[in-house]
Amino acid sequence: MPIKTGQQYIESLRDGRTLYIDGKVVSDVTAYPPLQGVIATIAGLYDDQHDPALQKILTYASPSSGELASATYLEAGTEPEFQHLAGCFHLRAKRTFGLMGRLTDFMSAFLVDTAVALKALGKHDAAARAQGLVELCRENDVQVTHALIDPQSDRSTLDAPSEAVRVIERRGDGIVVSGCRLLSTLAPVANECYVGPYYPRRSGEEPFMLAFVVPMNAPGLSVICRESFYRGQDRFDRPLSSRFDEGDAILMFDRVLVPHARMIVDGDIEAYNGMLQARPGYTPLQATIRSTIKLRFLAGLATAIARANGRDKLPRFQAAIGELVALISVAEGIRAGAIAEGLGRAQAFARGEVRIEGDGLTGPQTVGVCGGAAINFFFPYANTKAADVLRLAAGSGVLAMSAADYANPDIGPLMDKWLVGPGIDAKRRLQLMKLAWDMTGTEFGSRAGLFVLQYSATTEINAQRWFRSGITRECEALVDELLNN
Ligand SMILES: Cc1cc2nc3c(=O)[nH]c(=O)nc-3n(C[C@H](O)[C@H](O)[C@H](O)COP(=O)(O)OP(=O)(O)OC[C@H]3O[C@@H](n4cnc5c(N)ncnc54)[C@H](O)[C@@H]3O)c2cc1C
Repeated sequence: MPIKTGQQYIESLRDGRTLYIDGKVVSDVTAYPPLQGVIATIAGLYDDQHDPALQKILTYASPSSGELASATYLEAGTEPEFQHLAGCFHLRAKRTFGLMGRLTDFMSAFLVDTAVALKALGKHDAAARAQGLVELCRENDVQVTHALIDPQSDRSTLDAPSEAVRVIERRGDGIVVSGCRLLSTLAPVANECYVGPYYPRRSGEEPFMLAFVVPMNAPGLSVICRESFYRGQDRFDRPLSSRFDEGDAILMFDRVLVPHARMIVDGDIEAYNGMLQARPGYTPLQATIRSTIKLRFLAGLATAIARANGRDKLPRFQAAIGELVALISVAEGIRAGAIAEGLGRAQAFARGEVRIEGDGLTGPQTVGVCGGAAINFFFPYANTKAADVLRLAAGSGVLAMSAADYANPDIGPLMDKWLVGPGIDAKRRLQLMKLAWDMTGTEFGSRAGLFVLQYSATTEINAQRWFRSGITRECEALVDELLNN
């Protein structure tokens, strides 16, 4: 199938999945009012692929069919290909203001990374299955969600909890799994879901060492979504919740059959623990680009709000916003670094020169790439800081009236008279404040704040991995060098 249209995407969601929201079964997500906005946003991205002005950026010739495919699946190996890939990620993130962290873009890159990594690890059968799934997802132009985390049964132990997804039966037609995984952002509006490693497992936990992809309507899979954050308010009042609420879900697998071709890794500890470290880095590149756009959007909104109440003339706010602009510049440097590093790794992999890195918890103890470090630390800091600056710039103004208040003939004219700012009328000022509130104060805004802190697991555990990396010893060696001479 060539690239989908928005309408074809919408139809693809009517697949009979078992999905629960707020205690009720939602048998057709395309008819569930709170999800209409986000579905329309994603459908718009599909239609973009057919826009002659955008098609060159968003698509490429599929290596298997020759037809146009989403460039999010491009396995870049040259500088121009990396620029094409980055341009595609950039445009799609820009269309969504960097606010949809888990569009399929993330997983398209992740699946390509996985196939290359498994090949680099010498796991050729697993690599072939991963490549088959890349092609399945690419040729059907689907949205893919992922669930990498075990349920919080007992975080005092590192053992795989018995509640996590595990093998319960092996059959001729595939492997039957049961258990729970989280947290699957995009699940209500995705077509396929990936389950795989994040942290390493230990010997003895082979039944839990799984990486697979199943469709959202797989028999036995229950998708239990958190309540939607958009409940029909005027779009003026909820400009973000009404368009970008991706949803988050817990996935419950109750005797789900995973056909052999869809099971990438099954009990192979080297493959399971190595596949995230041996990847070229398409995923961190996507995440870096998306996070940079979000940082730009937050800095822009903080500036517009500061201008709307005159705070842009105060040194304190100029300094706060100036720091954000400087952070954007750092983020652009990380993007350039992620491209350069990705290119270097992809080319080394192609030559068969692979330096397998450890996960920072087990040997060898070198971790990640600069984009990965940025996702773990820089963007959680920068985007949290940006949201804080926005809060300070808006101050009490963020607790603003609604579109309905403004439309009320008794109070609308009073707002026009008294709720203005320097060079800005009351309606535009109100619109900005509603946007700031949706970014920081509504359920959507709170969740966005949590997401940036936790989307790549907890900072402390990530920091321990970096502590155990070879870089720590390199730094220490500098001190020895000084003292020994
Ligand atoms: C809004 C939001 C959206 C999210 N979307 C997604 C998503 O789409 N997909 C997704 O997969 N996750 C997603 N996450 C989940 C995110 O990865 C977790 O929230 C994050 O890992 C922190 O969760 P936690 O405190 O439960 O887990 P943590 O305590 O950080 O544990 C994470 C995992 O690592 C294991 N673990 C912890 N420490 C170690 C260790 N030292 N050695 C070995 N294993 C260890 C745990 O058993 C668990 O499986 C999302 C989170 C948020 C807040």
